[in-house]
Amino acid sequence: MIPLMARVLAYRCSLCAGEYEPADVFYTCPRDGGNVEAVLDLEPLRKRGPRFGREPSLWRYLPLLPLADPGAEGTSFRAPGWTPLYRLPRLGERLGLQSFWLKDESTNPTASFKDRASAVVVARALEIGAGVVAAASTGNAGAALAGMAAARGVPAVIFAPRTAPPAKIAQLLIYGARVVLVDGSYDQAFKLSLEACRRYGWYCRNTGVNPFTLEGKKTAAFEIWEHIREGRLAHGTERPLSVFVSVGDGNIISGLHRGFKDLLSLGWLERSPRLFGVQAEGSAAVAAAFRRGGEEILPVRARTLADSICVDLPRDGVRALRAAVQTGGAYLTVSDGQILAAIAELGRAGIFAEPAAAAAYAGLEAACRQGMLSGEDPVLVLSTGSGLKDVQAARRAVAEAPVSEPSLEAIEKLLPGELKRRMRDD
Ligand SMILES: *Cc1c(COP(=O)(O)O)cnc(C)c1O
Ligand SMILES: [Zn+2]
Repeated sequence: MIPLMARVLAYRCSLCAGEYEPADVFYTCPRDGGNVEAVLDLEPLRKRGPRFGREPSLWRYLPLLPLADPGAEGTSFRAPGWTPLYRLPRLGERLGLQSFWLKDESTNPTASFKDRASAVVVARALEIGAGVVAAASTGNAGAALAGMAAARGVPAVIFAPRTAPPAKIAQLLIYGARVVLVDGSYDQAFKLSLEACRRYGWYCRNTGVNPFTLEGKKTAAFEIWEHIREGRLAHGTERPLSVFVSVGDGNIISGLHRGFKDLLSLGWLERSPRLFGVQAEGSAAVAAAFRRGGEEILPVRARTLADSICVDLPRDGVRALRAAVQTGGAYLTVSDGQILAAIAELGRAGIFAEPAAAAAYAGLEAACRQGMLSGEDPVLVLSTGSGLKDVQAARRAVAEAPVSEPSLEAIEKLLPGELKRRMRDD
């Protein structure tokens, strides 16, 4: 019988390529601190072929994950992933693209992409008997860890900058996590959380530290691949799909890259979609490295209203860089103004995105302006989080609503002419 999980053969460092024995808890490379990746035994799966269950969540991909079935059917823990894919023809037309789609990650249980990683990390924590899980987060990773841990009754400790958007802090508290609001940046919260995990023996979910976040995030690539197989997304060797994704620490884009690499090595995909990373101008360490060439990621003093991608030193920068370089993609940067405009533009098409999510769309607009894409290139934007996560930013993206007296005469003065004409025609 073929087991329903992929065995970890070793952990491999992305910098020195050093390999380490599988162990219950393994974080970064002890030699150089490089990001470590689980090397999986995919041979049994290659023999079995691409057959998955029909469960509408990331757990349909258990055979591609280094985890036994975590159980808990029917709970929110079982819900992350299998997010909707939308066609947005009016936006596509404006961009001059014939085929344009958006995958909306706001439907995840805690309303961001981060549930994919957190569910898998909590499953791993239960498997190895870790008593407490912990993470530093700009907000979403913490909310996701707190939510997934709560669903399984696992205690969670979250370190977030005190400046995180109030909705995200509320989520942490509501899910019952121990919350430490750090009077400092995400990078300072990150350092503190590592020290606390070391001292108290908590299982650390931190992005770029725990190799299982990548395993969870790669499931988005599998979904894109299933959409392609179903004929819902266009992708060919001649005209590959271009995927736009926002980049902070760089773990989402690395996870997508990893997922496509798994599929390539299984022989289930002929070429990878192109990966385009989008960073905020004021938080663009990976994009700067891409422009310079080479793989050195230099820290910046990050400043952007897109809090989820506000990062001084990306914790998964090298792999994030390679994701674009090795798939024929690129890096783009966008201003906060362009991000706000993108929030409004997506909103008018029925999508409510938080700033970091809208950044990916703003990056696509920049790529189209710069002539980086042909109108025939199929394009997918990954919208990573809900606009309800940061209502303050959303309100900056649009004009205030006028306040009116409760009378028809008052609104007659207030409403624009074209609306009133249509009302009379009816
Ligand atoms: C975390 C996050 C990102 C960026 O992911 P990284 O792995 O840090 O690059 C983008 N958008 C949203 C909404 C996020 O929460
Ligand atoms: Zn190493």
